[in-house]
Amino acid sequence: MCCQHINLSCIVYKLRTAQHSLKSGIVHPIKATALIIPHPAHQHKATGKLIKKLGVPVISCHIEGSYICMPLWRKGFRFGRLRVTLADLFTADDTKTLDTDEINRRIDRRLSGADTAPPDKPFAVLRARRLLEGLENLIYYCPFCEREFTLETEGNVIRCTACGCRAVMDRCARLAWFDAEGARPGGETGAPLTVREWFRGQSEYEAGRLREDMEAVSAGVIVRMPGDNGEGVNPCGAGELRLCREGWRFEGTLRGERAQLFFPIEAVPAIPIDPNDNFQIYSSQFYMFTPTDNPRACSKYYVIGECAYHRFAATPQMTIPPT
Ligand SMILES: [Zn+2]
Repeated sequence: MCCQHINLSCIVYKLRTAQHSLKSGIVHPIKATALIIPHPAHQHKATGKLIKKLGVPVISCHIEGSYICMPLWRKGFRFGRLRVTLADLFTADDTKTLDTDEINRRIDRRLSGADTAPPDKPFAVLRARRLLEGLENLIYYCPFCEREFTLETEGNVIRCTACGCRAVMDRCARLAWFDAEGARPGGETGAPLTVREWFRGQSEYEAGRLREDMEAVSAGVIVRMPGDNGEGVNPCGAGELRLCREGWRFEGTLRGERAQLFFPIEAVPAIPIDPNDNFQIYSSQFYMFTPTDNPRACSKYYVIGECAYHRFAATPQMTIPPT
């Protein structure tokens, strides 16, 4: 890779919506020499269009170890080690000659790791302590007994209180499984060997349960929205949020008045979450929902919502399903 890329811009978030302000916010500072794409979890079709419009070289950026230094499943961060791999993806000429579908296809290949050689040695964290604490805020499904919300964590161990199985994470972020008697399960158990595999299995489990005549899923929620002056996100209402195949529907009170909202399924391709606290829907406005019964269920609404999008949206805008 050319080391003269001293003026870089970076897309740090997946393009969740075709929001004009977001696009212009990216395009404006990219009078830059090159664009870096950190490997996101999903890929939006608009990314290909954006890259073609910008016409600058694009570099991929793969970061390992952030799940330990700043895990999605718990609050806070800690000192640790990261491995960052940068690689050329498109030249400026490529962005002119390739069509947007081909640009998206090449990005998907890079994200999946299909066009890069695996690293010489696996990434290992410096200190292997409390690696899994809080993972039950993101993973709610036991791969052995298929019960939900029965997981608990301590240190480097996650266990299911229903069936007694447990997994221990090692310094290379691999999971070793034990059954209730402490023996290693034999044969092909299908047990996930990484958190990513487990999360993917959880999504497949939910996708497999979604029927054409999907039963509505509902939750009592507290709603938070940005204040009028644009500062802070404050509680401003409560009510019931329901997801059905047509979309998300809210009924309740907002800012002291009765309110009904509807977000069509096509308009919600991705659902950001703060595990064990809230999940978010972006439309012309930004809404943050906290389930009143069980805040850990945020991850379930996130998974089911994204599965429903891929199943029921007429023209999905994501090039690859959630993993
Ligand atoms: Zn279990």
